[in-house]
Amino acid sequence: METKRFHIDPQQIDREQIKEAANILREGGLVAFPTETVYGLGGDAMNPNASNAIYAAKGRPSDNPLIVHICEYCQLEEIASELPDAAKKLADAFWPGPMTMIVKKNEKIPLETTGGLNTVAVRFPNHPIANALIRESGCMIAAPSANTSGRPSPTSADHVWNDLNGKIEGLIDGGEVKIGLESTIVDLTEDVPMILRPGYINKEMLEEVVGPVKVDPAVLGTENVHIKPKAPGMRYKHYAPKGNLKIVTGEEKNVIAEIDRRSREDEAAGIKVGIIATEETKHAYRHGTVLCVGERKNEDQIAHNLFAVLREMDDLGMENIYSEDFSTPRIGQAIMNRLLKAAAHQVIEVS
Ligand code: AMP
Ligand code: MG
Repeated sequence: METKRFHIDPQQIDREQIKEAANILREGGLVAFPTETVYGLGGDAMNPNASNAIYAAKGRPSDNPLIVHICEYCQLEEIASELPDAAKKLADAFWPGPMTMIVKKNEKIPLETTGGLNTVAVRFPNHPIANALIRESGCMIAAPSANTSGRPSPTSADHVWNDLNGKIEGLIDGGEVKIGLESTIVDLTEDVPMILRPGYINKEMLEEVVGPVKVDPAVLGTENVHIKPKAPGMRYKHYAPKGNLKIVTGEEKNVIAEIDRRSREDEAAGIKVGIIATEETKHAYRHGTVLCVGERKNEDQIAHNLFAVLREMDDLGMENIYSEDFSTPRIGQAIMNRLLKAAAHQVIEVS
């Protein structure tokens, strides 16, 4: 099929193009669109065929549920079978925004959309194009990240185009996304809210609104590799570049020395080496191809650039990739969660 590429300025929404894209969704077709987190691949959440088409286009296992995107709080009430008090509180605090809530679903949402689960993930995104599209379509839009399953999530329309051109009906190019990491997922179906996927909205921010919050142990560091995560999607290999990515942690000067030593050896063996470094450290490496993910002191920048850098490593055909560690204070957990998965939890500790 031919993928129609729309170009829409988020500051000045072109109604005609939104209408055309919304029509595609109403007719059961798929349209990728920007949100503030990453690009999503949208289909009518009430249409099981559209959900099946999303799995097919992404090559995503059909037991990995989709997030339903809405443009008003009352749409959450429409599809939930019960809502705890925390739902309203969190929505008031963080919607529209990069937070997804898992609640018990009613019969309106088909099981195809929820990967067979009796719960549903719901988010009200904060992006003028996403909001206009949802509103105009009159649908709730099921939308996972608009990448081929297993690849880094798309933070620009070109990323989506590279993965899905010819497999979906439409793509709205609305420029680069802002945050660059997927939403925080909070499960509200048990007594205490639990973070199933860390994101820009962190544990402390959630706790200020609803009191104690747990974190699914499976999303934390390397020692928990064998625990089964509660969000099905967190079980799959993810975000992975084609090269063999390893994270090197420890004191900065030792990390640099270790990466430099390994890069020298790899290069001598004829292996193409990529290094993920920061503004502060990028000049310290004497071997390999260094890609800068941003300033270490600016964690928003690192979050924003991480997936693009992983994709660039693929484009450059890097075979071995070494990354510094980014355990930054506020969203470091979210950044490291993605990076650890991309590295299949291969971590080299230097003292
Ligand atoms: P993506 O939209 O590609 O970021 O993927 C959506 C994420 O939400 C995946 O990790 C899913 O497993 C997770 N998810 C969606 N619905 C549910 C649910 N009902 N329960 C637990 N996790 C969910
Ligand atoms: Mg995804």
